[in-house]
Amino acid sequence: MSNYQVEDVLKALSHVDDPDLHKDIVSLGMVRDIKVEQNQLFFSVYLTTPACPMKDMIENACRNAIAHFIGEEIACEINMTADVSVNKKTNAIISNVKNIIAVGSGKGGVGKSTVSAGIAAVLAKSGAKVGLLDADIYGPSVPILFGVQNSEIEVVNKNGGELMLPVTVAGVKLFSIGFLSKPNEAVVWRGPMVSQAIKQFITGVDWGDLDYLIVDLPPGTGDVQITITQTLPLTGAVIVSTPQNVAIADARKACAMFKMPSVNVPILGMVENMSYFIPEDAPDKKYFIFGKGGTKKLAEDYQTIVLGHLPINTRIMNDSDNGKIYDEQNLEFFTEIAGSLVRQIAILNNQQNSSSNG
Ligand code: ADP
Repeated sequence: MSNYQVEDVLKALSHVDDPDLHKDIVSLGMVRDIKVEQNQLFFSVYLTTPACPMKDMIENACRNAIAHFIGEEIACEINMTADVSVNKKTNAIISNVKNIIAVGSGKGGVGKSTVSAGIAAVLAKSGAKVGLLDADIYGPSVPILFGVQNSEIEVVNKNGGELMLPVTVAGVKLFSIGFLSKPNEAVVWRGPMVSQAIKQFITGVDWGDLDYLIVDLPPGTGDVQITITQTLPLTGAVIVSTPQNVAIADARKACAMFKMPSVNVPILGMVENMSYFIPEDAPDKKYFIFGKGGTKKLAEDYQTIVLGHLPINTRIMNDSDNGKIYDEQNLEFFTEIAGSLVRQIAILNNQQNSSSNG
């Protein structure tokens, strides 16, 4: 077809489906900026997230559709970009934040902060605008993971009020309750105080525009955790567990907390940490030291998925302890988990938008 028009391009690309949203990319509004010249075609595809694991697959499908329906001779330049989907519940309350994701666990020490930080760093590296709020009032460890435990918080005047500036490391805007309290200072938190403090972290911090704000919750399922989840307009939650039966039993309580009618937060998925061990000197061996299958079963019971598994690995531990969680090689462990998470967010936002549109 030598004399093709914009409509022909749209028609050809309507044969390409988004594999998660099960709709074609044209009706989803993902194809934009089309410029047509005789044998030259340019267009942009706006994915629902820059961390989309299916970016290459969708680009190839677009090229095939143009070659098949318009002509092999067309030189096709595609700008694969992203416009992160907005969660209505989150966005209605905090207009410059598109999604807030809480990361919780039934128990302490299962790697909840490590996973929160790893996900945030992967998403920032992919080009998303990311914040990480450390709301673990019992043991804030985000400053340690990013090596900024001695940061002084700056305050700026903005729009007639004072705002605290987050600390940016590896593209992630960080704020931690640890920046405000001194180490070893015991703070006893009660309901109204927690709610007040959390509101202060959202509205009193100059987050700017964010695609994803990851919130590292305190471990457990008590009043404090319930108050935090009720105070934040959450897109959804991620639950971290290790495979042992005792950890799974507590993770089950965390799932139940998010599903309480007064909380009612979608569970986007589970992360199984310390799933297995691969010895450095025997890379073909894989040991399931703490057991197998518990997280999968729990995910099924709560109609959610396992976003991914992390091995027990000295690099993860060392990079966390040394404030280098964002190290490129370390992030490889977290890439699949972050990719699965953002897919679940895009699916959820699309479902909510479709159902509210009729
Ligand atoms: P939580 O936030 O659940 O209390 P942390 O993320 O602080 O747990 O992790 C607890 C400790 O376990 C940290 O020292 C961390 O470096 C280590 N750790 C977490 N995940 C792993 C892993 N997959 N392999 C090795 N060490 C890990």
